[in-house]
Amino acid sequence: MLYSVRMRSAEGGAHETGGRHISGAERLVSYDKVTETANAMMARAFTHSRGQADFINIKVEAVREQDIVTIPLLPVSTAAVKNAEAGRTAAKYALIKAGVSPSAAEKGMAELLALPDSMRGAMLVCAKTGQRLDDRENRGVRVSRMDISDDDGFACWLKKHDLSNIHVREALVLAAKVAFAPGVLAELCWSDDPEYTTGYVASAKEYIRFPHLKLYGSPVGGRVFFVKPDSDIQALLYYLEQQPVLVTAPTKDGEQLAVSS
Ligand code: AMP
Repeated sequence: MLYSVRMRSAEGGAHETGGRHISGAERLVSYDKVTETANAMMARAFTHSRGQADFINIKVEAVREQDIVTIPLLPVSTAAVKNAEAGRTAAKYALIKAGVSPSAAEKGMAELLALPDSMRGAMLVCAKTGQRLDDRENRGVRVSRMDISDDDGFACWLKKHDLSNIHVREALVLAAKVAFAPGVLAELCWSDDPEYTTGYVASAKEYIRFPHLKLYGSPVGGRVFFVKPDSDIQALLYYLEQQPVLVTAPTKDGEQLAVSS
């Protein structure tokens, strides 16, 4: 049995009553790690650079091992871009290369740039027309019940490739789950941490990091999942929110997964 541990925190009251989203986290851990994981999430909610949370919701749910799907991590590369403008142009190109139409790539990026503040989850956007497909407004769709299968091996691998930070760790796991979702062609993301400007474009083939996708100091981040036209949105929502997924960590010596820069 594994346990899904999820946290969401807000400032100014609960999300449901209009509180401003501060941070969230999702893990899938064994019984002996539940308390330590929940404690770390609470500490994180109280010390996030986006603000001081006064509402924290931590949910723990048992997950049966036979319900878990295992998928591999995506190959990672980093594109050399000098500033946010160059990063966004390169990211749009990567989205188009992944099958998103040029106008949908443009619209999805514009939706993220127009956000007045960070959402809790992601927007589902049609990969052909650029129209928003979910009805979750500024709550968005939150991907949960996922983790890496071998924490220690993954930590070693991240260190070896100079990727040891919490943002990369979490994003690589989330992006792998999303890339294998039924109907998702590509994902665009940048963080809501004001000090972290790196974002990425991911598809079933690869995960490309862009060191500048937003301006330093901006507390607004977000995610867009570009979805093939005529996809079954209910099936997609079920997969993203409910399906437990473990992502296979690269081997400790780092040979399993290619990283280029
Ligand atoms: P982060 O990468 O944690 O800085 O998150 C950046 C943005 O991505 C957040 O503001 C949310 O809009 C979105 N996001 C974060 N975590 C998730 C998740 N588990 N599922 C969907 N969207 C998320």
